[in-house]
Amino acid sequence: MLLTILGGCGAWPAAGQACSGYLVEHDGFRLLVDPGYATVPRLLERITADQVDAVFISHGHPDHCADLNPLLRARALRDDPPAPLPVYSLPSALDAVLALDRPGMLTDAYVLHEFNAGDQIAIGPFRAQTRLLPHSVPNAGIRLTAGERVLTYTGDTGPSPDVVDLARDADLLLAEATFVDQVPQGSRRHLSSARQAGRQAKEADTRRLLLTHLQPGTDATAARAAAGAEYDGEIGIATSGLTIDLS
Ligand SMILES: [Zn+2]
Repeated sequence: MLLTILGGCGAWPAAGQACSGYLVEHDGFRLLVDPGYATVPRLLERITADQVDAVFISHGHPDHCADLNPLLRARALRDDPPAPLPVYSLPSALDAVLALDRPGMLTDAYVLHEFNAGDQIAIGPFRAQTRLLPHSVPNAGIRLTAGERVLTYTGDTGPSPDVVDLARDADLLLAEATFVDQVPQGSRRHLSSARQAGRQAKEADTRRLLLTHLQPGTDATAARAAAGAEYDGEIGIATSGLTIDLS
């Protein structure tokens, strides 16, 4: 299983960086997870739009799904459009992004597969166990398994024992860490810190931890140190262009 980070900014993109976007490849199948703001230009540096085999979206916030629109345009507006793109999301999560263009313009470019959090779904060679994790809108965390490897991704979430369940013994926990140490009072139930991510990686006994969704301006060294105060394993920061081979 090969993971390429297209972007790892939380909330809005920083100069030269994109928001959440992860390309996960196995056996030639290319799954795009969370096409957030500015991820499509990074994607197109690596593959063409028609080479994406499926898209999984954790939740409907635009920093996780806005670039579904340019991806669908890049497929639909060419002379020989590819087959409709399978798109997996929670019910109604994509209503806003799919309404950006005039009705019908992109309808043939995708097939929407809405699932309920808790469902286990098959996406190409991947088994995907989903779980509702606490956020300000419904958010599906995912445990992706393929070829004996496991990648867990939180989407955006407050602290929850369900994160630990999803990440149990995973090869990599890709964890939202909007803040370094303290989460502001108003966001405490819906977002996480690098320290909390480290604590949950330790509880789940994951092999590696990759912090993502750092709010632009966050000190990445401080975030890594906060996670490292809780977790002894390898800790990285998700930035555009980073590739991790989990095999
Ligand atoms: Zn969010």
